[in-house]
Amino acid sequence: MCGIVGVQGIDRASEVAYLGLYALQHRGQEAAGICSTSNGQAHLHKATGLVVDGFDDAVIRSLPGRIAIGHTRYSTAGGAGLVNAQPIVVRYHKGDLALVHNGNLTNARVLRSQLEQEGALFQTTVDTEVIVHLIARSRAATLDDQLREALSQLVGAFSLILSVGDTLYVARDPWGFRPLVLGRARGGWVVASETCALDLIGATVACEPAPGEVLKIENGEVISLPPLAPASHAPCIFELVYFARPDSRVWGVSVDRARRLFGRQLAREQPVDADCVFSVPDSSNSSALGYSEQSGIPYELGLIRNHYVGRTFIHPTQKGRDFAVRIKYNAVREVIDGRRVIVVDDSLVRGTTSRGLIQMIRDAGAREIHFRVASPPVISPCYYGIDMPTKEELIGAQRSVEEIRRHLAVDSLGYLSLAGMHAAVSEHGPFCDACFSGNYQAPLVDIEEGLPATSRC
Ligand code: AMP
Repeated sequence: MCGIVGVQGIDRASEVAYLGLYALQHRGQEAAGICSTSNGQAHLHKATGLVVDGFDDAVIRSLPGRIAIGHTRYSTAGGAGLVNAQPIVVRYHKGDLALVHNGNLTNARVLRSQLEQEGALFQTTVDTEVIVHLIARSRAATLDDQLREALSQLVGAFSLILSVGDTLYVARDPWGFRPLVLGRARGGWVVASETCALDLIGATVACEPAPGEVLKIENGEVISLPPLAPASHAPCIFELVYFARPDSRVWGVSVDRARRLFGRQLAREQPVDADCVFSVPDSSNSSALGYSEQSGIPYELGLIRNHYVGRTFIHPTQKGRDFAVRIKYNAVREVIDGRRVIVVDDSLVRGTTSRGLIQMIRDAGAREIHFRVASPPVISPCYYGIDMPTKEELIGAQRSVEEIRRHLAVDSLGYLSLAGMHAAVSEHGPFCDACFSGNYQAPLVDIEEGLPATSRC
């Protein structure tokens, strides 16, 4: 869960990268970084926290050049802190090389221990560093071939952008797990995780690089290098369910549109008589709207979200999960009091947020609460870059729907079916649905070797 951006051939590229990261803030709030290159020399700035807090005019001015890459990092299991933040920058004999990565490699531990046995020294604990070592160790004659050789050894998810000198490389894994989009702006090129970043930059969309595609952007030209060995296409459906911004287009479909289709399908599969429908803002706004459109039950704003909640907010006297939920959301009593309400959420992961929310909705006077989830039960962790808890913590893996209904204390509970979710967006698939089905597309090499999965990017 990270956001990445790359800019090539545009004056003050770091300024453009900054805008891109700002639009991709939802993909990671733990740290942000930008690396620009001028005259072959990298200029790097990384900071923990939000993009706006880590960068100001002076910092951006200290990152000169017409080429820049950037990264927003999500909180992960593999250690917070700046050392694991990206871009990763190394001195390479052809100039400084910088890399940003979104996704999670499933064979990083195996590759890392092989490299360590051969004498490689690692500075971070993130899987991404493996990639630079593989490039540096390749004996191929050109950087194009070194990069392709390195990438062809990777298993799992990677959307990545690499800069060296005035050249930008862009690549997606052969399964195409994570999104990436290429756009044109101000005579140059911009690459980003999602189209919402291109919108803010004022770039027009050129294409989504295909799974396994490796692009080289140089002198204003985009060259497609020979692709990586093909695999079954498996773009992540959870990007549509929860992760991507609704104003983005991902996998060739508007995320808002996809969520509305999920909501409509949910209303067909899980109908119930009620007075109003509302969302758990903001991630389920579109699916709740879809549910309302399909059922004809009015859409209301029953919950309001406070957008200024800092990640580290801890009240000295009131602790506990319920309080954490109340800091973030509040119920609108006028909408809820005495009514039969349908609450639509995009997904149920641990069930802790929902439990607190439902208590709050009860306290606001709801007569009946019907909880609807616009995706199937999450039953398996993601090893391809979405930060999910272990199977033990996933409520959908541990309890039946009826047990979850009782745990949440709702009058009824209904999930979207796996088949219904796929049917809603079938023209844009096939998709990876491992978190909902346990069906993993790319081999889980490290896990099969008994090694713990590396931290995600
Ligand atoms: P809970 O069931 O309490 O774990 O919370 C589920 C809610 O968190 C969902 O409705 C999503 O809006 C959001 N969510 C889903 N997946 C994730 C994730 N991987 N990391 C953080 N939040 C998530």
